[in-house]
Amino acid sequence: MWTHEIETVEAIQGVLNELDCSDICRRCVLRLAGVKKSHEFLKVADPPTPATDQDPTEPESKKAKLAEAPLSIPPCCRACLGIMQDSIMAEALSQIGPQLTDCPFDADHFTLAVSVPTSLALREHSLKLILTDRVPGFFEGCVVPVKQAWKWINGPKFEAVMGKKFVTGDSCQFFVEFQVTLAEDEAEKACLVDMCKLEYLQRQHKQKTYHMGLVTRVALEKSLQDVSDEQFRKHYPVPPTRPLSRFQPDVKMTHNSIFLAGRYNKYSRELPQTPWLVDGERKAESSVEELIISDIKEALVFDSTNFSSSGREDVDVRMLGDGRPFLFELTNPRQTMFKPGELYEIQKKINAHSKIVQVHDLQLVKKAETNRLKEGEDQKTKTYNALCRLCPGKNSTNLMSMTDIKAKLELIKNLELKQRTPIRVLHRRPNAVRKRSVYFMEVTPLTSDQFKLRLSTQAGTYVKEFVHGDFDRTIPNLSSILETEVDILALDVENPSEQRNTDGVVPFFSPLMAGTKWNQPISPNNGLASPSLEVEEEDGEVVKATIFGWTKTHSAPVVHGPNGNDDDALHLSKLRLCDNPSETYHVPNIIPSLRKRSLPHPILVGMNERLKQAKGLVYCTLWYLSIMVGYYFLYAPLLPLLIINRKWYRRATDVLYTIWESFNVSLLEIVYGVRFFVSGDAICSNENSLIILNHRTRVDWNFLWGVLLHSSVPQSHNAKLVLKQEVKQIPGVGWTMQMARFLYITRKWQTDEIKMGQMLDHLSAHSSAPFQLVLFPEGTNLTKETKAKSDQFAIKNQQEPFAYLLHPRTTGFSFLASRLRENQSLNAIYDLTMAYPDEVPEDERSMAQGVMPREVHCHIKRYKPNDLPTTLLGLDKWLQERWNEKEQLLEKLYEQRLSFPAYSSQQTMPQPVLPFQYLTLIAWLVFLYQCVFHWIPSFWGFTWIVLSSALMVVISRFTYGMQEIEIQLEKHGLFGMLYQCWFSLPRKSD
Ligand SMILES: [Zn+2]
Repeated sequence: MWTHEIETVEAIQGVLNELDCSDICRRCVLRLAGVKKSHEFLKVADPPTPATDQDPTEPESKKAKLAEAPLSIPPCCRACLGIMQDSIMAEALSQIGPQLTDCPFDADHFTLAVSVPTSLALREHSLKLILTDRVPGFFEGCVVPVKQAWKWINGPKFEAVMGKKFVTGDSCQFFVEFQVTLAEDEAEKACLVDMCKLEYLQRQHKQKTYHMGLVTRVALEKSLQDVSDEQFRKHYPVPPTRPLSRFQPDVKMTHNSIFLAGRYNKYSRELPQTPWLVDGERKAESSVEELIISDIKEALVFDSTNFSSSGREDVDVRMLGDGRPFLFELTNPRQTMFKPGELYEIQKKINAHSKIVQVHDLQLVKKAETNRLKEGEDQKTKTYNALCRLCPGKNSTNLMSMTDIKAKLELIKNLELKQRTPIRVLHRRPNAVRKRSVYFMEVTPLTSDQFKLRLSTQAGTYVKEFVHGDFDRTIPNLSSILETEVDILALDVENPSEQRNTDGVVPFFSPLMAGTKWNQPISPNNGLASPSLEVEEEDGEVVKATIFGWTKTHSAPVVHGPNGNDDDALHLSKLRLCDNPSETYHVPNIIPSLRKRSLPHPILVGMNERLKQAKGLVYCTLWYLSIMVGYYFLYAPLLPLLIINRKWYRRATDVLYTIWESFNVSLLEIVYGVRFFVSGDAICSNENSLIILNHRTRVDWNFLWGVLLHSSVPQSHNAKLVLKQEVKQIPGVGWTMQMARFLYITRKWQTDEIKMGQMLDHLSAHSSAPFQLVLFPEGTNLTKETKAKSDQFAIKNQQEPFAYLLHPRTTGFSFLASRLRENQSLNAIYDLTMAYPDEVPEDERSMAQGVMPREVHCHIKRYKPNDLPTTLLGLDKWLQERWNEKEQLLEKLYEQRLSFPAYSSQQTMPQPVLPFQYLTLIAWLVFLYQCVFHWIPSFWGFTWIVLSSALMVVISRFTYGMQEIEIQLEKHGLFGMLYQCWFSLPRKSD
């Protein structure tokens, strides 16, 4: 504790003792003194409670004395009613213990809340009044709320009783609420009626109207703000009196809804989709909804359900084909985790009980996925089968022959309809004209006047009305086309399977695909005996698949194709446990991952360890080689331009750098199968901006190019990294980065400030195109050592250490931000969060050993310069807030396997490879070949390499670098530059 805190604590304790309020517990004293450290609260023990008469060793006299005492219950704190006292809470916990231990919820962690009697606020207010008067240094605004401190102390206690993990934060789905009620609560609150007479006279009136309690929590808080101290003292004891009775504990447990989804077929012409009631009277015995839910109700416990579906069919229309997607929300479910096969068992029961409704693909889906049910509803195509009959009117006697009808109708393609709202639904839909399309029709003649019509239409087309015309409210219609009245006898919906594969439309339930992730944690003893599974492909061919990577509670196993390859086992619909080959599971609780088919087939994926290493080595060789020859044969020849025309020099270096980046990204994506998931805002590359991001690994920047390529609009960005000074010296890499005007920092702030300032001014004034400055505010990448240092720093500064991040440093960030703002060359700030959910290459070496992430995830948030505070302290706080947000995002991604928030369904999928990437890849490979086999071995090539290397070695060693030379040339011309560089030498050594 800080000295001032200790002083305040002691002062408060002193005043309370004086006032004979020593029964106020020590934890409440800490709270009132504004101590905000949970460990300080845990250190404190209860005040000694007077022994009860169960103690036989106690002398008789003392016992008698106790019996005489006016209060027969041990004193509970008059500030918190005892909920902060260990002994009293222990008693309360033993009362609610059975409820907690027999918890019917299967969640393995919980978050905790406490509800306290409203009158507690009166007690607190009363205490605050007295302390404000008598304790110097007491500040009302600093008092820690009782609920907050309660959680610090009681989280672990509930954890012990429940055998589940206690977590904080809004990510948890299971809530345990400790409810505290006090008998005299109402009576105590009654004083408010006198305290704020006018207000409660009005409320008394309202109370009758709204049936709420006279003094609600909100009302009380408002009254306490308005009432004067004097008035309060008149009607409520200051300090507060002891509670007359002990509180009553109770507990309430709730879990967020889960969502069960599937598809249904309906084989009846008398069954509505949902209960059909007219004026409270049932029109049909049952419904699709009721038939499905009755078996779910039998198997699972929950409070209530909500049914929704992707469209609906009429009572007399059958639903055939692949069925219609539906969704049940189960509120407050007790069971939330399912073993493979468990939901399939429920599905089997539903199907056994009813022949008219059949369900398949029953599965658990995430809340975020539920809106896909309604997504793209209009673009969907529906296929129907209609039984039609010709009804020639009195006037037309000659029937068209079936052959003519068939010929006439099948010629029509993409017929546009104008449909006025059908008469039969006018009572519930507004009268309007809608445009719909009939894509094609097929006719199968049945009798001389009946035929089967198969037609494909845009979703939302009224098919019955299209056939009979609805008194010409639908134009054109079948009757008008055939010039004979046509009636419809029966209709079936046939949800065609091609609907699933239509490009652009995200299928709600596609068959299990390789790369599918379990949405629930499973472990080897959780129903699956062997980590090996057999997967049956849709055309009947059985292929082998393995489960990969299951360990701790949160890891999600992934199904892979036969070669460990994600993309070659695309259409897996059935999954079979190897141990029990007779049973086939229809992959019930598996969420199909959304993979775009257009992704290229990675050339090098799924090999054994040695090949993996070779693959890493090849990558690093190609990567470094491309940089070296890039310098010698693309960059170095540009050097004369530095003196002849610096505008061209800058343009050329910028463009060539971007082209190299795109080669690197293409290599990763096309050859190595790395997938980039980019969500959030796009980066506008027509603007100058500052990009900040977390530094998970030393090679973040290598993957950052991929993120920038896929998130920049337009794609040709111009990123400049802020790097450590040492990088400058690395042959090739450092040299090109000098020429591309990257920023270097030495960590000596005095020099950095001048050099970075000059570079920023130079970029602002002379850049060939808008630039994006990339800064890692953490200063260094995350390793065990840097993490330990960062944690120490956090603890020293009274902050919670991060689990997935290092603490950001503000100096560089605030300098860059304010300098760019001064130069009026800052249009936006982008906050990037990078994550590697599977494999993380820690450095270049591990990359060379073949450690390559399969997925790189990045979330981008854009801020306007005006969003940034202007003061240094403000910037510091702002950056800290961004890092707190990052930590939450990363926790969700790594622990709960939730992807970063996506703004569209496209963002939930890996970024598609762009056509020009193939071109860059091929061009570079040809270029590399040319260099290695023709130019480098030649005499002139070799001489060129030696000379241009020597130049850069000298420049890197004896000057601040090529970027510095460029600045000086711009400022002072050739001779001025030489002069300046000469005089900068002695300064460099100190
Ligand atoms: Zn207390």
